[in-house]
Amino acid sequence: MEHLTIEQARALINRTLPISAELELFEHWRNCKICRGILKPIVVEKAQEKYEISQSVIFWYPFYVGDLQFRVYFTTKYIVAVGIGKRMIFNTEFVQVGWEEVERFHRGFLDSFVKYFISGSPVIYKDIFPFFTSTFFSKTVLYWTYLIPHGRTVSYGELAEWVGGRRYSRAVGQALARNKLPILIPRHRVIQAGGKPGNFTAGVELKVKLLKLEKKYLAELKMGKNDPGNSQTY
Ligand SMILES: [Zn+2]
Repeated sequence: MEHLTIEQARALINRTLPISAELELFEHWRNCKICRGILKPIVVEKAQEKYEISQSVIFWYPFYVGDLQFRVYFTTKYIVAVGIGKRMIFNTEFVQVGWEEVERFHRGFLDSFVKYFISGSPVIYKDIFPFFTSTFFSKTVLYWTYLIPHGRTVSYGELAEWVGGRRYSRAVGQALARNKLPILIPRHRVIQAGGKPGNFTAGVELKVKLLKLEKKYLAELKMGKNDPGNSQTY
């Protein structure tokens, strides 16, 4: 396979390609230093993006999927955090709104989020921004993680290699532990070398379940189910 073009690299980070195309490119770039060299400046550019949230308001909306409690935090432009479980993730509770407001600014998100937990189909959203991740290094880790496609897993060591070297493994683990956008930034797809699931703030059980769901979804996709793409632009 040929190396990534800049257009392909941009399409990967903007999540505009069908899943089948992402998977095909991934099998190449995960092991290709040249391609990771093409992706790196795009990841860095993303990690340097600034978004002044102080001027707008952060809303939040609580909801359930089965027994699991969630809170989505968002602005009119971005989804900025997702809380799983009862644990409060912020001291300030921001402005609580109804689902109409989520629907208004992030159309399709809630429906697809619920569906994801049932069928493993991708979550649809317009844009995310890791606003609550403060350091450049952590943001870099999160954007590399963002590039791991549906149903695929990567070890902490491999992710550290992409970020800059195996010596960053521990720091990578710490950055992932502070990810405030679980599911959307697929931290659950980063596992221990040898296949053990490793940590997940919302519980290892859930991590294993999500990976199984995603694999099942991909198997169905392979059998000829329509490839919906990531549908981020709706
Ligand atoms: Zn390559």
